[in-house]
Amino acid sequence: MTDTQSQPTGHAPQTVAPDPAFAAEAVASAELYERAAADRLGFWAEQARTLLEWEQDFTETLDWSGAPFAKWFVDGRLNVAHNCVDRHVEAGNGDRVAIHFEGEPGDARSLTYADLAREVRQAANALTALGVQAGDRVAIYLPMIPEAVVAMLACARIGAPHGVVFGGFSADALRSRIEDAEAKVVITCDGSYRRGKPTTLKPAVDAALAKGASSVTNVLVVRRNGEQVDWTEGRDVWWHEALAAAPEEHEAQAFDSEHPLFILYTSGTTGKPKGILHTSGGYLTQAAYTSRNVLDLKPERDVYWCTADVGWVTGHSYITYGPLALGATQVVYEGTPDTPDKDRWWSIVAKYGVTVLYTAPTAIRTCMKWGEEYPGRHDLSSLRLLGSVGENINPEAWSWYRRVIGGGKAPIVDTWWQTETGGHMISPLPGVTALKPGSAQQPVPGIVAEVVDDAGNPVGNGEAGYLVLTEPWPAMLRGLWGDPQRYADTYWSRFPGMYFAGDGAKRDEDGDIWLLGRVDDVMNVSGHRLSTAEIESALVSHPKVAEAAVVGATDETTGQAVVAFVILRGGEEEGPETIIDLRNHVGQEIGPIAKPKSIMVVAELPKTRSGKIMRRLLRDVAENRATGDVTTLTDAGVMDTIRAGMSKSTED
Ligand code: ATP
Ligand code: MG
Repeated sequence: MTDTQSQPTGHAPQTVAPDPAFAAEAVASAELYERAAADRLGFWAEQARTLLEWEQDFTETLDWSGAPFAKWFVDGRLNVAHNCVDRHVEAGNGDRVAIHFEGEPGDARSLTYADLAREVRQAANALTALGVQAGDRVAIYLPMIPEAVVAMLACARIGAPHGVVFGGFSADALRSRIEDAEAKVVITCDGSYRRGKPTTLKPAVDAALAKGASSVTNVLVVRRNGEQVDWTEGRDVWWHEALAAAPEEHEAQAFDSEHPLFILYTSGTTGKPKGILHTSGGYLTQAAYTSRNVLDLKPERDVYWCTADVGWVTGHSYITYGPLALGATQVVYEGTPDTPDKDRWWSIVAKYGVTVLYTAPTAIRTCMKWGEEYPGRHDLSSLRLLGSVGENINPEAWSWYRRVIGGGKAPIVDTWWQTETGGHMISPLPGVTALKPGSAQQPVPGIVAEVVDDAGNPVGNGEAGYLVLTEPWPAMLRGLWGDPQRYADTYWSRFPGMYFAGDGAKRDEDGDIWLLGRVDDVMNVSGHRLSTAEIESALVSHPKVAEAAVVGATDETTGQAVVAFVILRGGEEEGPETIIDLRNHVGQEIGPIAKPKSIMVVAELPKTRSGKIMRRLLRDVAENRATGDVTTLTDAGVMDTIRAGMSKSTED
C-alpha cells in the first residue's frame, strides 16, 4: 500500500533489548509463543480454565460453524462479577485495595476488594429491585468515579448488558445510544469536577429522556458533587438510598459463556460509531490474559493506572474487567491532567507509587508539548512498565515517554487493538520482545494476524498491505447490536474468511508489524501510495513540531496532494522558514514525493472524545467540502478555526 522504503522517520529502527532484571520478574516468557502456536485452541482453553473460575466447565473451546459468529467456551457457565470481585475476597484478599480513587478536587478514597464486593452486591440488588432482569440493558453515563466500575460489575452480576456512554457526550448522543440499546435504566450522577469547577451530568439525561428514549423506566443517580439537579418523582432514585435499602447479600447466578456482557460504540474516528457487542467467557479470558502477560500485572506487586475513560473499550477491558479479574490494585482518577497544574498525573504516580501506566499517544504528545519540567517535579521511579494505545505512537513520542516518564529504562508496550477485538491483539511482550519504537511488532500469543495485499495474499517482509485477523479470538465482537448483516458486511466481506480491521500495516525486514493508519486515509500521490502515519511521524520528529495530522486532498496534477496540519511546540515561531524547513525535513526523512504540498500551523486538531485525530474532517477542509459527521468531536469550534485559518492561508 505504501512504496516508501523507509521505516517511519526514515531511520533503521533501533531495537531495545529486554532488561535482564525486568525479564527475570516478568510474567510472560517466550515459551508462550511456542505453546500457542503448537495448539492454539488448547492454549486458550488453558487460559480460560486457569485465569477464570467457571461454575460449569465448557465442553468445546470454539464453535466456528456459524462463522463469522463465534461461540467460545461452549456450554461453560460463569459469573463475570464473581470472577472480578467475590472470588478474590473468598481467596483471603478482601483487604487488598481494588481502587485508589483520586477526585479532581483532591479528595481520595480507597476501596478494598471486600468494599467493592459489598457495593456490587448492593447495587445488583438495587437494580433487581428496579425490575432489571437478565438480558435487560442498562445505560451508564458517569464520570471516572468508583461507582462507574461498581455499576458495570453490578450489571454483569445480574446478566444485564451495560452500555457505557462517555460522560462528555451530549444529551443527543446519549439519547441515540439509549434508544439503540433500548435501555431500561440509566445510571448517572449529579455532576463531577472538571478543571477545578463543578459540572453537571444529570441534566443531559433529563434532556435525553425528555426527547425520547421511552424504554427507560428509572434513573439511578449517584451523588458526587452535590450540585442541584431536577428530580422526576417516581423515575429518579438516589443511588446511595437504593444501595442503603438493598441487602448486602446477593447470590451470583452463573450465565452462559456467550451471554451478552456489554454494548459499546466505537470512537467514531472514521465515521458514525458502531454498536459493538461483547459476551462473557471469551471476553473476560482475553482481558485477563492480556492484563497479565502484556501489562505484566501481578496483583501482589503492582499499582496499576490506566488513564482511559470507562466510556471507551480501554476502560472496559483494562480498568474494569482485566485488572479486576486478576485481583490487581489500581488508581482511578476523575479529572484532567492539568488541574490544578500540568503535573497532576505525575503527582498521582508519586502519591500511589504507580508501577504500570497505560495511556494514549495523544496524552504523551500533550505532555511533550507542556515540557519536561512537570514530570521533573515528581519522583516517578516506581514506574516499571509503560503502555500505549489508541493510535500510532511515533518513535519520537515513544523515546520521550521512555526517557522522561520511564526513567530511560521502563519497557513500552505499544498495544494495537480495537473496540471490536475486545482485547490486545498485537503488542510486544514486556521482558520478552526486543522493542522497536513505533512498531506494535507481533501478535500476542494465541492471536493470528496477517498483512495481506489486495487479493488477500500475505505480503513479504518489507512490504505493506491490509491488516487482517485470520483466526477467531476469544474476545472478538459477536456482532453489531441489532444488525448482524452489517457486522458481516463491515468486517468479513473485503477478504473472505478474514476479519478486516480497516487499518493499513507494513511488515519490516524482520517481519515486525508497523501500523500505517486507516486504509481510508492512505494517500495516492502521482501513483505512489503514502501512509499518513509515516509522514506524521516524520513531522513530529522535527524539534519544532508537537503534533501533526496529514491527509490527501484531491489534486489535478498529482491525483492527491499531501496536506499537513501541525501544532508547534510551545514557544516556536511560525514563519515561512518554518514551513520550508518542515517540508525539507519530510523530504529528507522519507523522500521528496512525501513532501507536503501545503502545511498549515494550527492551535488544535480535530479529535474524537478519546483523543484520536479525525483526519476525515481535515480532508473535508483540505478539499473545501462541508464537514461530515462531527457528533464524536471534542470541540466542534475547532473546525471553524481551522477553516478560517485555511482560507486565510490560501488567499495569501
Ligand atoms: P471508528 O471505528 O468508529 O472509526 P475507532 O476505530 O477510532 O472508531 P476504536 O475501536 O476506539 O475506534 O479504535 C481502534 C483503532 O485505533 C484501530 O483500528 C487503529 O486504527 C487505532 N489504534 C489502536 N491502537 C493502536 C496502536 N497501538 N497503533 C496504531 N493504531 C492503533
Ligand atoms: Mg474502528
